[in-house]
Amino acid sequence: MRYLDEYRDERLFRSQLARLTQIATRPWVLMEVCGGQTHTLVRYGIDELLPAGMEMVHGPGCPVCVTPVEIIDKAIALARRPNTILVSYGDMMRVPGSESDLLHVKALGGDVRMVYSPTESVKIALENPACEVVFFGVGFETTAPANAMVAWQARRQGIRNLSLLSSHVLVPPAVEMLLSSPHNRVQGLIAPGHVCSIMGTGAYEELAAKYKVPIVIGGFEPVDLMEAIVMLTAQLEEGRCDMENQYRRSVREAGNQRAREMLFEVYEVCDRKWRGLGEVAVSGLQLSAAYREFDAELRFGLEDISVAEPKECISAMILQGLAKPKQCGAFGTRCTPESPLGAPMVSSEGACAAYYLYRRHNGEMSEDECVPSGEGA
Ligand code: SF4
Repeated sequence: MRYLDEYRDERLFRSQLARLTQIATRPWVLMEVCGGQTHTLVRYGIDELLPAGMEMVHGPGCPVCVTPVEIIDKAIALARRPNTILVSYGDMMRVPGSESDLLHVKALGGDVRMVYSPTESVKIALENPACEVVFFGVGFETTAPANAMVAWQARRQGIRNLSLLSSHVLVPPAVEMLLSSPHNRVQGLIAPGHVCSIMGTGAYEELAAKYKVPIVIGGFEPVDLMEAIVMLTAQLEEGRCDMENQYRRSVREAGNQRAREMLFEVYEVCDRKWRGLGEVAVSGLQLSAAYREFDAELRFGLEDISVAEPKECISAMILQGLAKPKQCGAFGTRCTPESPLGAPMVSSEGACAAYYLYRRHNGEMSEDECVPSGEGA
């Protein structure tokens, strides 16, 4: 299959790896931002094939993982309301709030419906005029334009019983927070290809220039990632810090113009809390003034609630590239995908979940290698 088989071709992969081995002279630390990239790296063991000393650390690029518990609790509160239909994607159903999840609420009689497209909620609202219908959508720049269609259609068609509960975030401000941290270890960055397909390359050009760090926009298959690692390493060895695009088959400089227009018609930029990272300035999207009447948080007066992360969870360190999942004392014991304590174990794209799936039997950490409980809080 074109664009899949060729990017999983072992011969191509091995030739890129051989090139990396030739050019790498120092133990560089690289970060992949996107959870899909983390999943591929861990699944295929790519990070374990790198030349001695070179290290991949995993960034905050899993959309479900960085969604604050508070917004899950708000979705649960809405799903428990009478005459209310809560609509969302399947991957949100098992994400735990502070006490429950949407599947449990559904099992107890709440009207919770799974859809494949956010615009299915428009049809549900038209078919159920006596009910309030709320679409619950989270994610990065990739899903925000499609979820924006809910508010756009509701306004255009004058649908009064439809609203949007959303928690969308923008990746570049979180990357900037990591790069500007005094604890930053990242020397080169693989930027998220899908996000750049929507937003274009400009923000990453600015970050590369401002923080003097090479950035390569990368794809998601093994050959993509190895090629991106080679491109970053070549830059580091040559003393360059440019933005380059490995994922040329999808990413254009200007991104997807129509999707960007939709995004900035319906949303405006705001500060946003990231699970594991805390509040990140200008990193969120909220409904703009023209669409605010479709904001479920305002419509239903959902109060601000605050939920603390478990003390033993070191997800803040993992999402900043300062620790690996198996350095957490709760990994695979008190924290598993069935019973997650923290953000990166929640979704299959999370770093802890990827390590649990592919590496949990690969050697145990000694006590010295574990990060003490509470350091990530
Ligand atoms: S293993 Fe669980 S508790 Fe530990 S850092 Fe990952 S998500 Fe947090």
